[in-house]
Amino acid sequence: MLIAGDIGGTKTLLGLFDHAAARPQPIVVRSFGTLDYDDLTTMIATFLKEDAAANATAIETACFGVAGPVIGESATMTNIPWRIDAARVRSVFGFPVKLLNDLEAMAYSIPVLQPDEVHVLQKGEAAAGGNIALIAAGTGLGEALLHNVDGRYIASPTEAGHADFGARTERELQLVRALTPRFGRVDVERVISGRGLLVVHTFTHTRPCEAGVDLDDPDAAALISRAALERRCPGCIDALDLFVEAYGAEAGNLALRSGATGGVFVGGGIAPKILAALTAGPFMRAFNAKEPLERMVERMPVKVILNARAGLLGAAVSAAGTRSAT
Ligand SMILES: [Zn+2]
Repeated sequence: MLIAGDIGGTKTLLGLFDHAAARPQPIVVRSFGTLDYDDLTTMIATFLKEDAAANATAIETACFGVAGPVIGESATMTNIPWRIDAARVRSVFGFPVKLLNDLEAMAYSIPVLQPDEVHVLQKGEAAAGGNIALIAAGTGLGEALLHNVDGRYIASPTEAGHADFGARTERELQLVRALTPRFGRVDVERVISGRGLLVVHTFTHTRPCEAGVDLDDPDAAALISRAALERRCPGCIDALDLFVEAYGAEAGNLALRSGATGGVFVGGGIAPKILAALTAGPFMRAFNAKEPLERMVERMPVKVILNARAGLLGAAVSAAGTRSAT
């Protein structure tokens, strides 16, 4: 048995997994309010104490995906005062502990995802042994790579969400011109993320929002998407159109930079909510418009990850060491 975790700024999932099979099987998964606990050690202690299955089992190993940079054996969370120290968890509980960046953890789930856990945007043809790339817009934007190294997939984190946003059209150039005085350098996450959608919303609304979206609402990004999909406000429709095209173009940039002939996966919380917009055409057109390499990117499979617990599953896969290439 092993413990896997997906540690986010507001919510943390901890799961007990049986790793006898190629794909680790969850025995019990619990959700915790991250800030309800002082640190990860206290949270694990509660999980083990309160859950009979976890309590009765010898834990062999553990792996945690963390929404924040991991340096050596510790990680700090962006925006919250939570420090995660693998050495301390190991010294208290006695099992080996691995920390991964959250996108790195999610990448490890990709080789074990079942067909009903993904939505195919472009069928393509996966090259055997090809690299795989993962892009995931949620609150922020994360990107990770999955390299096939001697038959084993090894994930690699990036900070590509903070690379420069590449405007391709007159409209996107106008967006960059509008944002630069406000924010300085416009990074990709400034446009392609939940927070980015709010920024794009202010750009596309020269008149009051007809859907009445309050940008201070914690769910504002989802409200804009819904208003756009239900065609309730021209400014929201415009915002989602711009967002979807930019998302497709950046997924294509990632595909080129990583040589992702094994496929590109779109994870994160936003994609499943705007699946209708992602399948409508502009996302894949922007992805494939990579002259002179259109034929290369058109061959790459592109899939949306529908499993909301892919990050947790990937942490379990990594802990189990079952990451053989297929
Ligand atoms: Zn609107």
